[in-house]
Parts: sequence; C-alpha cells; structure tokens
Amino acid sequence: MVLPRVVRTFNYVKKMSTSHLHVLPSEPLAPPTATMPLSAARRWFSHDEEPGFSSHLPVFVTQSAYQRLDAHAVSDLEREVGGVLVGDWSLDAATRQQFIVVEAALPARFTRQGSVYLTFTQDSLVDIHAEMDEHFPDKQIVGWYHTHPGMGVFLSPYDTWLHRHFFPEPWQVALVIEPHSTTGGFFIRQMDGVLDAERYFGFYELDGNSGQSVVRWNNLQPGSEAADKDGGYLHE
Ligand SMILES: [Zn+2]
Repeated sequence: MVLPRVVRTFNYVKKMSTSHLHVLPSEPLAPPTATMPLSAARRWFSHDEEPGFSSHLPVFVTQSAYQRLDAHAVSDLEREVGGVLVGDWSLDAATRQQFIVVEAALPARFTRQGSVYLTFTQDSLVDIHAEMDEHFPDKQIVGWYHTHPGMGVFLSPYDTWLHRHFFPEPWQVALVIEPHSTTGGFFIRQMDGVLDAERYFGFYELDGNSGQSVVRWNNLQPGSEAADKDGGYLHE
C-alpha cells in the first residue's frame, strides 16, 4: 500500500547520491524548470470548470499516454482496473506556475479487483517499483488512475482516503475513467489543498500541433483558441 512513497524515496535517494546534496526527506523538493507546452496542446474542459473552481496546477497528457490509459480502461468492463501515472513535475520558467506532464501509464498488474474498490497490493508495488527503476528512472509518479465501470466519474470515500495517504503531494492527481459511458476526468487539489471528490477537471492533450485529437471521452469539451492559452486553470 505504500508504493508511491517507496518509489519516490527510492528515486530521491538516487538523486541525492549523485548530487551529494543533503536534504531532509521531509523537505519539499522544488520541481525543475521547464517551458509549459501550451503551444503544443489543446485544452479539454469538464462541465465542472467554472470561476471559483481552479486547480493547483495544469495537467498535460501525451497522446501516447492517453491511448494507453484509455485502452487499459476498456480492457475490463466489469471490474475496476488502474495503475499509476508517470511523468514530470515541472515549474514554468516564465510564469512560475507548476504543471505536470503525464507521459506513461503503468498498469497495476497485480491489483486486487473488487466491485467497489481497487487497491495496490504488495506484488503490484514491487512490480511498479521495478518498472520505474528500469524504464523511468528520472520520472515521477504524478498520480494514479482507475476505472469505475458503470458507476460514473467521482472519488469514493475510499478513493479519497487512498489519494490523501499515498499520493499526498499537492501536484499528484487522480484520474477516474468510466469505460461504459466513455467519460473521464482528473481530480486535482485546489490551491487551498482541498480535493473535491465530486467535481473534476479536464486536461491539456499534448498533440504536438498535429491537428489530430485522440481524446474520446465525451464528457469533455474542447476549449477555444483563446481559452487554450488561459486554460481556466491558471486564473479564477
Ligand atoms: Zn474508485
């Protein structure tokens, strides 16, 4: 159950050993600076997004990561499936706005599946730990995802508990996908740290200006050009 912390601590120790910095583990790590890829993305809004409901940070999702998430979500229409979201946590150099980019999805292959909840088992912890080390040594676990077959897009009390305890960073997010209705949304803490279990956000699809979207979730609306640049994420 403690995978996210184990992985983060593991990566953290490796970074410490190469940089020779001594920082207490409880001290928050500052994200590396990068350029927020707004110009290569298209914004998808949920119907919950309105003035007064703004998130801690924008979420960008690569098209390959979206397709893998979506494929995993529809692979089992009876039971919940899920895993972790892998990518980068960054600070935009110009605006000082934090953001995350979801670049990969790691299915929790040994997840115990039930009709009402999903959990990370000890086996899946070891599995994800090994995959992070082998394939994503410089990436972060930026959140987790799971499906709600036939139940809708929300966080159950158990989901909220799991998120708070195992994905405690303000920049870690929860994605819920409902494969029957082909809907999905991101649960992201607000600036004051509050996590709304009923209202969710859309995201930025990193299409590289290809002009082709791969997003299928029909509960999200594409933003206008002007709105894409503002995002509704960054300002109230
Ligand atoms: Zn759930």
